[in-house]
Amino acid sequence: MIAAVYRGPGLMEIEEVKTPEIEDPEDILIRIKCSLICGTDIKTFRRGHHAFIPPVILGHEFAGEVVATGEKVKVCTAGDLVTLPPFLNCGDCYICQRGIFELCPNRTLLSNGSFAEYIKVSQPYAAAGMVKLPPDANLEEAALSEPLACVINAVEDCDICLGDNVLVVGAGPMGLLNVLVSQLKGAGRVIVSEPVAHRREIAEKLGALAVDPTKQDLNEVVREVTEGRGVDALIIAVANTVVAESVLSLARPGGRVMLFGGFPGSSTLTLDPNLIHYKQVALLGSSGFTTRQFKQAAEIIMQKKINIGQMITHRFPLSEIKKAFALAMECEGLKICITCD
Ligand SMILES: [Zn+2]
Ligand SMILES: [Zn+2]
Repeated sequence: MIAAVYRGPGLMEIEEVKTPEIEDPEDILIRIKCSLICGTDIKTFRRGHHAFIPPVILGHEFAGEVVATGEKVKVCTAGDLVTLPPFLNCGDCYICQRGIFELCPNRTLLSNGSFAEYIKVSQPYAAAGMVKLPPDANLEEAALSEPLACVINAVEDCDICLGDNVLVVGAGPMGLLNVLVSQLKGAGRVIVSEPVAHRREIAEKLGALAVDPTKQDLNEVVREVTEGRGVDALIIAVANTVVAESVLSLARPGGRVMLFGGFPGSSTLTLDPNLIHYKQVALLGSSGFTTRQFKQAAEIIMQKKINIGQMITHRFPLSEIKKAFALAMECEGLKICITCD
């Protein structure tokens, strides 16, 4: 099959690689139909990633069609449209037993990344994590289940309640998904801080109050909207510590601050410790998701509970993935879909 093989920072080539085959009676072979470029793929391509040691096929947000199954497979048949989480937690380790499944160190992975024509999965994996989609499903939207699951994880940890005022810093795809899920959880006013005009426009369309922090005083806007208190929840969806430091004080006393974006390895964050002591602001982090959250994300998308289609702004065939990565690195558009058909 054809796949995009990552060979180190800045290096990725379309190569002919071995097509995964049904070797075990419980194997399931899936033809990937579409695969989205994630911030993690971009980070890995730019500067490397501890979890993706080259040569490796990147990509983990995808949907496709089951094309072959081993003789003992009962959970699906050829022709089923599906989406899958890129990993499953083990359920048995110290971390899993404490319920923090997204941090399991003993994850099971798929046969390869999704910037490829095929992916193989075992029946136990499919039984635990696979979501079967209706025959008329929009597969591009279904592929958003993974990033949406990450956002559900973060918004759950932020404990957003009915009427809460939320500030989302950064209106990239993940920031915008945080807006949508916060609204679904019943947030009151959602303020978005974003310097890029076309991203602010989308945030406004989603019903958020979009602020250009290079021209407007974000402090002032937050104070106005919240009658001087600060926001109940503050979600930082950028990987910039200077920006993060500048907004920490915008949470209300007892509010929650979520560091949603991953920062480069050597980053340091300076903050006033009394923000945590006297103001009792909870500083939280979130990465990854649980299988339950992945399935909820797919369910919400299929039920059209959120207006998620507009997240996908560009499409490229797999053969042009380098162009797609170049575009993604310019922060043009939102999610870029690699069509693998
Ligand atoms: Zn992702
Ligand atoms: Zn585990």
